[in-house]
Amino acid sequence: MEVSFWGTRGSLPAPVTAQIIRHKVKKALEIAAAENLDAGTDIDNLIDTKLPFWVKGTYGSNTSCVEIRDNEDFLLCDAGSGLREFGYHFLSSHKGSSPKEFHIFISHPHWDHIQGFPFFIPSYIDGTRITIYGCHDNLKESFSLQQRSPFFPVDFDSLGAKIDFVGLEPGKTYDIAGFSVSAMEQNHPGISFGYRFVKNGKTIVYSTDSEHNMASGNNEELVTFFNQADLLIFDAQYTLIDAWTSKEDWGHSNNLIGVELAQKAHVKHLCLFHNDPVSSDQDLDKLLHNTTKLASLLEEGKTPRVSVAYDGMIVEV
Ligand SMILES: [Zn+2]
Ligand SMILES: [Zn+2]
Repeated sequence: MEVSFWGTRGSLPAPVTAQIIRHKVKKALEIAAAENLDAGTDIDNLIDTKLPFWVKGTYGSNTSCVEIRDNEDFLLCDAGSGLREFGYHFLSSHKGSSPKEFHIFISHPHWDHIQGFPFFIPSYIDGTRITIYGCHDNLKESFSLQQRSPFFPVDFDSLGAKIDFVGLEPGKTYDIAGFSVSAMEQNHPGISFGYRFVKNGKTIVYSTDSEHNMASGNNEELVTFFNQADLLIFDAQYTLIDAWTSKEDWGHSNNLIGVELAQKAHVKHLCLFHNDPVSSDQDLDKLLHNTTKLASLLEEGKTPRVSVAYDGMIVEV
């Protein structure tokens, strides 16, 4: 299976500025000078081997949208601003083919998880079928509301696609789009739901916008939900200090609890997600470094691979 991250930022899009690009360019030139860059230098190799990710790239600014694909079977988690990118990519790679079917699972209707839908071009195309799944009973109302005047010029009910909403019950298992799917309620203002997807013996868990702490009481249930996941996409928006002090009860987790739960659940790959809009690319590189180090201190055989999600990242499962 292939998991593509179209939007990884939490709360709201957080684009880089001209000043940030200048800072990256300056650092890249300093590194290149130290490496004695000249006309014969293999520049791609220099970029690949000498520049840290925060210098040569960016974690991106789009809000939550993740595609899980197994050949022709695919589904999407959340409809944040990354859904716009997915829509363009999908249309450009399916030029001339007939309208398609999309399955979108919504963790909760906070705006950063649905704001990409009005810009999802396939929703304007007659004959397209879109099914939106979730455990909240106000999903249709939430999608309609953000496209109501004066917020948006195109009414939800006038879209060309046939759009259906399907309610799911946490704890039950469903067969959808070729995947076995179950949901779990999570601790978040207004409640959110995590999803566990299983196909061909591989398991991917999408657990964003969820505040876990070791005292929250449902950790055994969580460990069962995460159990043996090949990939756990985990909300680690805050640092441990933030999570314990100024941002306690704001509904998000931290990297430390992610490592602890991943270890207990024997997760193979822990992917930190819903990056804080105040975190710079350099901060997120540090988060990756520190979390990888932390995971390496665990008992041998229980060390999950760690990554920090970025827009455009593709993970093979
Ligand atoms: Zn969010
Ligand atoms: Zn939220």
